[in-house]
Amino acid sequence: MLLTSSLIAMAITQVAIVATTVYLHRSLSHRALRLSTPVELCFRTILWLTTGIRRQEWVGIHRLHHAYTDVEGDPHSPVIEGYWKIQLLNVVYYRRAAKQKEAIQRYTRDLPIDWLDRNVFSRSLVGLAIGIALLVFLFGPEMGALIALLHLCFYLSLSAAVNAVGHTFGKRPFENLATNNQWLALLTFGEGLHNNHHELPTSAKLATKRSQIDPGWYLIAILRRLRLAKVRTLKRDWQPT
Ligand SMILES: [Zn+2]
Ligand SMILES: [Zn+2]
Repeated sequence: MLLTSSLIAMAITQVAIVATTVYLHRSLSHRALRLSTPVELCFRTILWLTTGIRRQEWVGIHRLHHAYTDVEGDPHSPVIEGYWKIQLLNVVYYRRAAKQKEAIQRYTRDLPIDWLDRNVFSRSLVGLAIGIALLVFLFGPEMGALIALLHLCFYLSLSAAVNAVGHTFGKRPFENLATNNQWLALLTFGEGLHNNHHELPTSAKLATKRSQIDPGWYLIAILRRLRLAKVRTLKRDWQPT
């Protein structure tokens, strides 16, 4: 049961990571691409059921990370806090940063709270409860609870690794403090190419060389072909107003 549950949990985690990197990160935080309304709604629903993340919070905290990378004000810097604190407690730092309501508001003026945010997607616990109920319905109470727990561990560990490993270990082809780790990029739909990302934050594609693999970009390429996504080319990174 453990192996099957782990495989199912990892599959759910990967779906949540796709929604995080393509929608929350590349599309909303950096405006690197524009998604069609049905795809956006699909990603919002996935995030609600699998993570309970509120999009304004995630985007605001992430933009703070880019504005104050590895200096005071960075919500989750392993250079300041140490690698293990971010790898193990990233979610605690995230929750702490989420309390900076004013800063988050200032950094997300282009992302107003809409009707769906207010009435559905801001209710994180409801989303997670429905997600867990679905798992229990499909796999029974024991296995459903185990899958939910494993998914929580996988998602939190991989998200933390992008922030912790991605600013500590790996290659730095560009002159910034973030690092590239191809193994992490394979587990996080491209997010492990973090040095590239800090150099070119508005690029929808995180790979900069033919030898680098960014699975998130492959999905974006498919969405483009289906006319469900438009990749933008911006000269400047997003700036707070
Ligand atoms: Zn970073
Ligand atoms: Zn970013």
